[in-house]
Order: sequence, then structure tokens, then C-alpha cells
Amino acid sequence: MRRLALALALLTLAGPACDWEHAALMNSIPIKGKPSVNPTVHVYLGLDGLSHRAVTKARARGAFAGWDVARFIPMFPATSDASWTRILHTGRFAGYEYGHYDPRHDKLYNTSVEGVLVHAIPPLDSLAHLLPETVRAPVYYEAFDHHATDYISSVWSYERPVFGWYRALDHLFVALAGRSEKQHTFSAYMLEGDVIGHIRSEEDFVDVLVTLSERIQDFKRRHPERSFVFTLFGDHGMDSVRKPPQYVVDFRDQMRAVGITPVDTLERADKVAGPAAVAVLHTRVTYVALHTRPARVAEVARLASTAPAADLVIARGSSPGSGYPEDLEWVDAWREGALAARFGYQRSTDTYWLPADVDWAALDLPVAFTPGAESGVFTDETLFAASAERTYPDFFFRARTALEPISVEFPAEAVVSLRDPYMSVGFLVPIVGGLDLASAASHGAMSGQGSVSALLTEERSLPATVRSDTLLELFPALSEHLLQRGLTLLPGADGASLDYAGLP
Ligand SMILES: [Zn+2]
Repeated sequence: MRRLALALALLTLAGPACDWEHAALMNSIPIKGKPSVNPTVHVYLGLDGLSHRAVTKARARGAFAGWDVARFIPMFPATSDASWTRILHTGRFAGYEYGHYDPRHDKLYNTSVEGVLVHAIPPLDSLAHLLPETVRAPVYYEAFDHHATDYISSVWSYERPVFGWYRALDHLFVALAGRSEKQHTFSAYMLEGDVIGHIRSEEDFVDVLVTLSERIQDFKRRHPERSFVFTLFGDHGMDSVRKPPQYVVDFRDQMRAVGITPVDTLERADKVAGPAAVAVLHTRVTYVALHTRPARVAEVARLASTAPAADLVIARGSSPGSGYPEDLEWVDAWREGALAARFGYQRSTDTYWLPADVDWAALDLPVAFTPGAESGVFTDETLFAASAERTYPDFFFRARTALEPISVEFPAEAVVSLRDPYMSVGFLVPIVGGLDLASAASHGAMSGQGSVSALLTEERSLPATVRSDTLLELFPALSEHLLQRGLTLLPGADGASLDYAGLP
């Protein structure tokens, strides 16, 4: 509770010290520019929790007519902070979310109220030095010209999300009008859609999307002096699977029941007889990250996969034996106590080695082998195309990179993807209590609509399915904008690029 007190103190302290509304206004004061200097303005909106299915329903109601739309597949686990960081190639986040395990200090961070409350802290540089390093605003916030309207916008968002959405839209279009006098690219972030999805319903989210489409058209009508070209993209989808209270679980309870001792440190794990792991519960999402000693990974992953809430456990693996090159990096997928799948990745050639004796069809992964062959070698494009519209979209790339330090400094050794309708209870949420909060839908798991976000644009044509890691390749103006904002763009995952035109 000490950190909570600190955060609240900062919130109240910050009020009189600066005036964020005023600052936002000054930022968006319409200093008149010449439309001939920037006749076209590219607008990139990052919408948290933008699910492809909600977009499809909004389009059925006439929204975003004439735009190109793609299924947009985020990283696994499909969760906000790590995913935005991955999409935008910005500086790495410590863990998948604020709550994370740091192996350098063998310690869990932000595992209670402060992990959630930090979202209510404004990303102002002038205040950053007052915060502990572990609760500082993520770097990806800096990718956006506009994303919060005042110090308590996050609190508004959680308590009255639809009201928060409309309020955020008002501010967004004021900011756009101001910035477009001088800028030819504008980027903004909206959190509220994610909250509406978690707490309210898909229909409510469809409603606000329809309104967003109308507001965009209205804005264009009122600003005929320039042409505005919009692109919308999300960090994950929303599964729209209601979570009954008995399925909102503390995974540590299930670990105990299947023989894994949940611990807070690996030092403690070493003293326990039998398998032990640090579980990071994060927020109310459908995955759990497990940190354990390398020697214990397979055992922990296997046992964790027998927990009722587990669908798949993705973990670092090892070679099944001879017949494979030595430079392969192996990934295991455990289900119900058995090794459901394993594959090796060859980084130098960006190819995947798949054993033929795995029941790939049981994972809804249609891959074909030469008859009699013990294994097959597949290109990233082949496997992307095979899995793009299946139960586990982009399975191979996402399973592999979940365990690599790409947008995350300290990836887990194993990630549990939960089964419907289970959801992790998460660390305590201080604003409103009860198991009903944020139980209308969630995301994070490898399967389902939570792993299918959307990419919509007026700028160009799109492939049917886009790997979210490649957004900046498809939209170089956004990439250039981030560089102009002073961001250092990280190279991202090895082998993330896809030859979309050459997909099988
Ligand atoms: Zn999100």
C-alpha cells in the first residue's frame, strides 16, 4: 500500500503544480499553417482492444466504408504493453505488462495495486524522476502525438468507459485540427475501447466504432482545406467470452493442485523440493507467465498444462535427437500433460523444422509432409499462411517469439495460454472491487478473437492477414514520424518480415 499512497500523492500533487488541460490546449492551438505545405495529413490511431470482429460488425452498419481492412495478429501473449511496444518497435518493456519478474534482482515488481494505478499516472517527463524506475511510463507512449487528456483520464476510463471514449474523441479531434496545421503525420492512442470491451460488451464497442467512423467523416467535411488519410490499428482483439466468477482463477492455486510450488523468487524455488515457479498474474487477462530455472522448464510446463485453466503451455524446448541441425532453437507446446507439439527454428535461414510425428491437425495447424519423411522444413511464409485464419493464428512465429527478448526485456521461460472461459484474476484492482469487474471479455491467449485485432486504412491496400510486427514496413510514413518524434526504433524479431505478395 505504500506505493499506492505514493501514486495517489503524485496525482494530487500534480494537480496544482501543472495544468495538463492547459498544456493540451496549448499543444493544439491552431497556429495557422499553409495547406499547400502539407496538403495531405496521414493520421494513425492506435486503438487499444480493437477487435476484428467488432470492426466487421461496425462495417456491416456502414462504418469505414471503402477502407481496406485486415486481420491484424498481435504477438503472443496478446497483451497491451508488450504488444504496443512490439508493433511500434519502441524501447523494450521489462515484462509483458507492468507486473513483471526481473531475474537480475530475482524479484517480482508491480504485483498489486501500483501495477494498475501506474496507468493513472500521466506520462510527463517532468514527473518521471519522482517515480520508481519500475513504474515509469512505457516508451511507446512517446510514439503518439496525443493520448491522454488529463491526469485522471485513466480513472474516468475505468469507471465510465463510454463517457471516457466520447470525451477522448473530442480531445483527439481538437488535437488533430491543431497539429495538422503544421504536421503531415499525426499519431494518437485511445485506451477506452479496451475498457469498454473488458467491462461492457462487444455491442457497446461496435457502437463507439460506428461513432468514430462518423466523427472522422464529419472532421473531413469541416476541414476541406487538407485531405486526411486515416489508419487504425489495435494491440490485440477481445474474446467476447464472458467469464463466470468460478472461472476467474488465481493460477497459483491450480499450480499447487498439480504439484508446482508457486514462489516469489527463484532463490526460494531452489529450496523447494520438487518443481517450483514464479507466476506473474498480470491483469485480468487469459495468460500467465511462468519463470523458472532452465532445468525445470519442461517439468513445470508439463505439469502446468494439466491445470484445468490451461489450454496450451508454450515453453523453451530441446532437440528431439539426431536428424536435425544443431543450430535449431526448439519450442515446446504442452497440453494436458503431453508434448502436443514441438518445432525447431533456424534463425540463419528463417525456417522451421517440424517433426512429422506431431499431430498438427489436433492443433488445427494444416501442414503437409512428404510421405515417409520424419520431418519437414517450412518457410515462415508457408506457416504464416497455413495458420493465419486458424485457431492459433501465426502459431509458430508467435510461440517462438513469446520467449524471446523482443519488446520484453525479461521474457518468461513458459507462457500458459488459458482455455475459455477461464481468466486470470490478476493482481488486485483498486478502483472497483468484485469478480464482475472486467469479466465481459478478455485477451492474452494464443487462440480465439482475443488474438485477432484489426488494421483499417484509407492509405493502401492490405493483405488479408497482417503480422503486427510488420506495421511499420507497410506504413513507412508512420515509421518516419516516430523517428521525427525522437524515438529509437528497435529492429524487432528476427524473421518477422513477410513476403505478403509471395504467400502461398
Ligand atoms: Zn490493450
